[in-house]
Amino acid sequence: MKITPIVVASGNGAPGLAAGIAVLRKGGRALDAVEACARVIEADPSDTSVGRGGKPNVLGVVELDASLVDGTDHRAGAVGALVGYLHPISVARAVMERLPHVMLVGDGAARFAAEIGAERARLLTPSTRRMWVERLAKARETPASVRRRAKLAPVVAKTVGEERGTVNFIALDRAGDIASAVSTSGWAFKYPGRLGDSPIVGAGNYCDTRYGGACCTGFGELAIRNVTAKTAVDRLASGMSAAEVARRAIADVNALDDAAFNIVVLAADGSHAAASNRTERRYAWQRADMDAPELSVREVVPLGAR
Ligand code: ASP
Repeated sequence: MKITPIVVASGNGAPGLAAGIAVLRKGGRALDAVEACARVIEADPSDTSVGRGGKPNVLGVVELDASLVDGTDHRAGAVGALVGYLHPISVARAVMERLPHVMLVGDGAARFAAEIGAERARLLTPSTRRMWVERLAKARETPASVRRRAKLAPVVAKTVGEERGTVNFIALDRAGDIASAVSTSGWAFKYPGRLGDSPIVGAGNYCDTRYGGACCTGFGELAIRNVTAKTAVDRLASGMSAAEVARRAIADVNALDDAAFNIVVLAADGSHAAASNRTERRYAWQRADMDAPELSVREVVPLGAR
């Protein structure tokens, strides 16, 4: 069977698809494609949920989380709460390829990023700094006052809201292999060190070349609690369609809480679907034989639906 390579992404991933499709058209690997896609969004300061320009934690520090999975053998790399580097996805890949580990966080991740010569960046932009200061003001805090606080938990209760965001990519290459990548600055104005689902392999990101892949955006704590991405791939393995798998994932999340949540699913045969518990959410996809990405509406699974 001739395989037409494809990359499926969260809606905000559309500008990154050309980079991955270029890799796949040359016969390149799915793993290289998803990394190339994620790097585009990480470097784009206009996306305030990923990489440079991502929203900071409660102390005004942009902490980045990323992971990638190679579906052929489940080799995976992840970084959490990485500060000061432009491409967390590439640091995650280096963790996978150069260390006997899967995940590094915080100071250790930054130390390793320096060791491999990863590109440094100032991640907080003037506009995301302004958003942070405005949010602190709502909590009756200032940058100086919040930095003096012995206890941040009461402040975070007032600074966090619904602002989250992540970019997802799942690619199928000409050889039939699948890889997936996820990158984010996490939950805006969070407690320092908070990790969501994005760097947790099996929660926000998982793939298996035999069956397909799944990646999440939205309230990451719920994806951790449901092991959402791995569960989705298990459901593909059981023979469910991508659309049914996406629907079931949202229904599982809805059973826990009412919080915005989204999933994209790519099956091993190239079929794909995406779902959300909010309306008007889109996902992006492009096959190697298409000139431009297509944006499709995600199926909505409202609270209460089974
Ligand atoms: N899932 C991400 C997190 O919880 C945020 C998001 O995608 O909205 O960190």
